[in-house]
Amino acid sequence: MRILGRGRIKTVLVTGGAGYIGSHICVELLDAGLEVIVVDNLSNSSQEALNRVEKIAGKTVLFYQIDLQDKARVKTVFETHTIDAVIHLAGLKSVGDSGRLPLKYYQNNIYSTLVLLEMLEQFSVKNIVFSSSATVYGDPATVPVTEQFPLRATNPYGRTKLMIEEILRDVANSSHIQVVLLRYFNPIGAHESGLIGEAPNGSPNNLLPYVSQVAMGQRDKVLIFGGDYPTIDGTGVRDYIHVVDLAKGHIRALQKIAENEGKGERCQAYNLGTGHGHSVIEVINAFEEACGHKITYKIVDRRSGDIAECYANPNLANQKLNWRAEKTLPEMMKDTWRWQTKNPKGYKSD
Ligand code: NAD
Ligand code: UDP
Repeated sequence: MRILGRGRIKTVLVTGGAGYIGSHICVELLDAGLEVIVVDNLSNSSQEALNRVEKIAGKTVLFYQIDLQDKARVKTVFETHTIDAVIHLAGLKSVGDSGRLPLKYYQNNIYSTLVLLEMLEQFSVKNIVFSSSATVYGDPATVPVTEQFPLRATNPYGRTKLMIEEILRDVANSSHIQVVLLRYFNPIGAHESGLIGEAPNGSPNNLLPYVSQVAMGQRDKVLIFGGDYPTIDGTGVRDYIHVVDLAKGHIRALQKIAENEGKGERCQAYNLGTGHGHSVIEVINAFEEACGHKITYKIVDRRSGDIAECYANPNLANQKLNWRAEKTLPEMMKDTWRWQTKNPKGYKSD
């Protein structure tokens, strides 16, 4: 087994590790020689994802099906294992649902984090990496977005991210705990094995799962939300980042806190994006190249709360974490298509 950095990170707890991004992070952690423990209640995921992670990595993951809000059961995990770092992904993530069910979002996302942080304090776990989002920048005044931009969330989901960032900042200032906030831009794509990828329940909210289901003939057409934005072709522009690049960013973040232990910033935010924006039309065109046929779309009204353009300035992560997104938009499309064609029903077998 390998040990990461001077801070000796050997065992990492991944909350939400059975999910889309978490499963890709587990592969990278195992590849880096670390021991991986996953806590997930499977509310938006399947244990099959972790079976596939084990198949890709040729190593095992220790899995606990536990709701993070269940303090007694979470405590048993910390009592049973010596955990050196936590990557905290568990949470609900639908912007639309969060508007309809704000209390569910605050309860699940915030309370889970409080339980987790209490365990970190109690069991002297020194390091945590948190899955934040570009949504904390709201509607940025300009692009590209740097970490210094003002923070303002525009929906309950975003506010949970912002609140958790603030809670983590307070905890870092008052305890032994070191925090890295990773602000993801738009993660897409899948592992190149085609074994793990995004498997949304019901109708997808995000662009890529929707486009790939249309390409598969599972849905009629893509509805493009708005064709009159002040962008290159009138459609929304985002910074799409390959999920494997994103996952690798977490290993670099762990390396950084392991090396920094006791020195430097106790709570640091980093943008994880490519630094390039692509419009919805550009994404659809790139997907057509990958799947080899036309994708029907229709431009409809703007989606409420959407912004015209958002992409990262990733210089801080490039410099301080020695991390850079490497995969291109065509690679993201190719890997999404491979995952989709090999797993038309996601992780469901029937
Ligand atoms: P996901 O839904 O696939 O993964 C989240 C996992 O957390 C799921 O497996 C779910 O079962 C689990 N979970 C939720 N509440 C839990 C609880 N109370 N206890 C235990 N497990 C619980 O989502 P994802 O896309 O992999 O996102 C992971 C994280 O990254 C989330 O925090 C999300 O907000 C954040 N994020 C995602 C995106 C994106 O576009 N996918 C962008 C920015 C930030
Ligand atoms: N989008 C779209 N049709 C869809 C889903 C998304 O036109 O069915 C657009 C959306 O307006 C935005 C971009 O695709 O410009 C990315 O949207 P997504 O929901 O994937 O990410 P986010 O809005 O969180 O950046």
